[in-house]
Order: sequence, then structure tokens, then C-alpha cells
Amino acid sequence: MGKKGLLLCVCQGTCPSFQEMNIFEVGNAIRRERLVDYVAIHPQLCALDGDEFLIALLAGGSTDELYIAGCDPQMQAKMYRDAFQAAGFDGGKAKGVDIRNMSTEQAVEAIKALITSDGA
Ligand code: SF4
Repeated sequence: MGKKGLLLCVCQGTCPSFQEMNIFEVGNAIRRERLVDYVAIHPQLCALDGDEFLIALLAGGSTDELYIAGCDPQMQAKMYRDAFQAAGFDGGKAKGVDIRNMSTEQAVEAIKALITSDGA
């Protein structure tokens, strides 16, 4: 069965939009409840090495659902499209959620809502 993964993207950790949350604790909260099979933090998925990360992660085909918490989901869809295509990953299996300007607790709840609304 395919894996479910969560990626947290934080604009290099320097953007004011992510200063109100502890991104490590956001990931830990989701891990503790075992809502996904893996969690990773990437500093900038929309950079070239972000593309490489996505391709390396997804090319094996073992991920069935990918949740990405970061900026606006529509922006995400555009920015990751080429990497998904290069990896042979169906972009429809990626679901984004905007967690900018949230506290740790708010970000955790937003991610949980995304995952559970997806039938997890
Ligand atoms: S993908 Fe979005 S959250 Fe991630 S670095 Fe780029 S703009 Fe920031």
C-alpha cells in the first residue's frame, strides 16, 4: 500500500509568515498521532533543489498521498508541477494547505483538517 507523507515548507525559515510557529513541533504533533507515514521539513521546495528533492522522493512511486503545508495551495500546485511530472507523480495526489501566519496549534489543526478531510 502506498505511503502518506507530509512535507512542511517554510520559506527558508526566515520569512515572517512562519515566525509564530515552532515548525518542528508542528511536524511532531502529526507524527505523534501517526496521521502519515513520514514527515519532512524542507527549507524551500520552490527552489531548484526543492525540485530535486521532490523528484528524488517521489520517483520510486511509493508515495500515494502527499500533503504539503506551506504557502497558498494554488501557488504550490504551479510551483511543483514540473517536479511531479519529472517524477511521474500524479499531481492530483498532492494536497496543499496554507499555514502562513499561524501559531503552532493553528498549523497543526489546519494540517489535521486537510488529512482527515482526505479520508485518512
Ligand atoms: S513553496 Fe511556498 S512555502 Fe515553500 S519556500 Fe516556496 S513560497 Fe515558501
